[in-house]
Amino acid sequence: MAFKQNFICTALISLGFLLPDWYLGYCTKMLSCTVPINTLLSVLGFSMILSMVKSRKFLFVIIAGITIAQSIQLNHWAYFGAPINSQDIHKAFTELDEIFQTGISLAGSFWQVWLIQSLSLFLMIFGVLQAKKCRHFRFAWVIVLLALAVNPILFYVKGTPLFHTKPISSTIHNTLRAFSSWLVNSQAKIHNFHYKSYQITYHSPKVKNIVLIMGESLSSRYMQLYGYKNPNTPFLEKLKNDPNFAYTKGISSSVDTLAGLQLFFNNAHNPGFTELIQKKSANLFRLARNQGYKTFLISAQGEGLFHEVGTQFIDVYSFKKDALKSLKEKGDEALFDVLTKLNFDEKNFIVIHLRHIHEPYSYWEKYFPVLETNKSTDSRELQTRNEYSHAISYHDHWVAQCMTCIKKILPNDTIVIFTSDHGQLVGEDGLFGHNLMRSEVVDVPVWAYTINADKCLNNYIKTQPVCSHYDLGKQIAKLFGAEIFNPNENPNLQFIHGTELHTNYVFMPWEKINGTAKFLQIEQIGVAAK
Ligand SMILES: [Zn+2]
Repeated sequence: MAFKQNFICTALISLGFLLPDWYLGYCTKMLSCTVPINTLLSVLGFSMILSMVKSRKFLFVIIAGITIAQSIQLNHWAYFGAPINSQDIHKAFTELDEIFQTGISLAGSFWQVWLIQSLSLFLMIFGVLQAKKCRHFRFAWVIVLLALAVNPILFYVKGTPLFHTKPISSTIHNTLRAFSSWLVNSQAKIHNFHYKSYQITYHSPKVKNIVLIMGESLSSRYMQLYGYKNPNTPFLEKLKNDPNFAYTKGISSSVDTLAGLQLFFNNAHNPGFTELIQKKSANLFRLARNQGYKTFLISAQGEGLFHEVGTQFIDVYSFKKDALKSLKEKGDEALFDVLTKLNFDEKNFIVIHLRHIHEPYSYWEKYFPVLETNKSTDSRELQTRNEYSHAISYHDHWVAQCMTCIKKILPNDTIVIFTSDHGQLVGEDGLFGHNLMRSEVVDVPVWAYTINADKCLNNYIKTQPVCSHYDLGKQIAKLFGAEIFNPNENPNLQFIHGTELHTNYVFMPWEKINGTAKFLQIEQIGVAAK
């Protein structure tokens, strides 16, 4: 067969590319990486083209480049527990001394990473040596360069300033994206605002089981609980007089999901303080783990949203693709199946991340059919409001079932806390969706329900006519027994942050005046200084 040698060469090089993921991800579970089918096919395709390149010098340069990048990725991932970010790559070259020292001290556990890298390199070199006898294609090297250029070109054209890590993608996928973003943005340096570090003090934990439900696109002003005209939250409405329940108006940290999650879980406050997010010194998962909690993240959405959220401090996670079929069948109720199968420890911090009530709102109708709604087709605004309000009815139905589930699995010393990543515009001034820096987009609910547990958070919520995500994060940390002190805080001022935290940083300050939030002028700062 004419291409027999090409197949052998392809198999060897592909095996070299994927061996670290198979061994470190599937066998030893040192890394959280997996090899999805599309990655497998891309690697096979890329290796096949490599086998058709005639120049072995060219092949060695390509293999050497990928090996260096993968070596940085694998060591970083094994050490930090998460794939490397584009903005951290320069450290691999500037802090070589420190890395070398750390490597030596960790040799006892890192030898597997190094062994597998050596094997992987050996397989690829062996593959390249086989390439001599392969069928060659004159312009194969051009295809190789084009394939490698796809990511940098995408970053350049789309202007995506930052690579987002995906903790359960393959190492090669994360490496290609991180290094592409790094190459495109290598001149940009993060501006230093000279913020002071947070101080954390530890006490004894107050509640053993903390369940935080992070909603999606839910604005409090459309909920019956907060005075909306439609009876769309009958379950929450009934809890109003329950002594275990407390609720107030919330203000999210951002108008965007990705930025909002990073800000919330890192308890970020000051505009442009991206160093805090990178260092994760006040990361809620980290603080919980520090205090002996087992940490969980159960999400109905993709893993790409959890960039910089602190996945390295999460013991158990489940994303959309882990429950894809049942999420389609049952909507977010599929999350209860995941929850009931979890093995809990003595103390647990569980984050449940919802997909509902994301647009299109009518999508949720099939999981909670409408009996009769005044379906208005008069205007987009009325129609959307009806659908949105109905999606909130589905949410209330989901919350009722969730409470039953949690009472069953964690019947003692448990607190359930709810907020949404951001709110939503539903026709105000003819505007829809989120991402716009407007007060409606940061209007979210905040409530807590205790199940035979300390009511300190409930008491706090009851005294706050408005509670920001930043305030809520600090209160959640207190439940773990971790007190966060931010020396950069002005007690009268809070901030809403825009969609982009790493380049065109937009923020809007707000003040708490007589129990209401007064929003000030939108301002812009350049975080990335060339
Ligand atoms: Zn969202």
